[in-house]
Amino acid sequence: MDKKIDNFLEVKNLKKHFDVGGKKRLKAVDGVTFSIRRGETLGLVGESGCGKSTTGRTILGLYEATDGSIVLNGRDVTSLNKKEKKELTKDMQMIFQDPYASLNPRMTVSDIISEGLDIHKVGDRKSQMEKVNELLTLVGLNKEHGSRFPHEFSGGQRQRIGIARALAINPEFIICDEPISALDVSIQAQVVNLLIKLQKKLKLTYLFIAHDLSMVKHISDRIGVMYLGKLVEVTTSENLFKHCLHPYTKALLSAIPIADPDYEDKKTSIELEGELPSPIDPPSGCAFRTRCKYVMDICKEVEPKLIQCGEDHRCACHLLEKIKKGGK
Ligand code: SF4
Repeated sequence: MDKKIDNFLEVKNLKKHFDVGGKKRLKAVDGVTFSIRRGETLGLVGESGCGKSTTGRTILGLYEATDGSIVLNGRDVTSLNKKEKKELTKDMQMIFQDPYASLNPRMTVSDIISEGLDIHKVGDRKSQMEKVNELLTLVGLNKEHGSRFPHEFSGGQRQRIGIARALAINPEFIICDEPISALDVSIQAQVVNLLIKLQKKLKLTYLFIAHDLSMVKHISDRIGVMYLGKLVEVTTSENLFKHCLHPYTKALLSAIPIADPDYEDKKTSIELEGELPSPIDPPSGCAFRTRCKYVMDICKEVEPKLIQCGEDHRCACHLLEKIKKGGK
């Protein structure tokens, strides 16, 4: 059993379904349960379309949850009214994927960063500008940058502006939604290192959504793997790379070069064949069965549950039950 843990975020059976016409529903997130401990980073990974960004946006309140609960710092955020939700955005902010699209090109950097302070009526203009200058320095820019416009900056600098904006009202929790995907590889590590530095300095808790597993490993304490709207494996970052159990996680890992000889020696290459099935019409039983080379009869009939399979390790695969029973 897990020890008593100070969870900052607890997500239980979260669902986000979208109507797509007729009787069909797109089950973008379909019964996801996980927690994030205070001060830690949970990485959320999976192919494009697996529901990881929708999970982040539903937690933030950009989408209304179809079902389930989201408890942030002891408060169930799914039951809040509009005013309470606005208050909540003080605790929770998002860094967006595209630093080009997420910054208003007609606003100066100072106005972009101070917008949250205005919305929440924090301080007068003078104190707001002091805060902006402090934030610019914190993210590795300087106060002269405040009077410029987004188009005058590189991609990496723009993401630093996005980070400063997210920090303006002193949130405790930040959802980083693919914050490095749109950046040059040479810049990605700089932005991730900045996020790590800020987390330590400001005692932040992160949900870090990405598809680049090597970068996720660098920043995450624990990692959750999503497939077709469901979590299929959650464990510590180290354990995931050395002892992952789910065939999908293995396939994801085998596709990337890892600069870790311990892991490289053990890894066997598994091709991930075929496309991700549609979340409007997902396969019966295990959603991964159409691409899994270990598929068994039971996988077509019964959806595997996310079960405890070690300390701080949960996985959803019928193979585990077979191994427990002594099967081969
Ligand atoms: Fe493969 Fe079956 Fe496990 Fe799904 S439950 S990952 S199909 S072995």
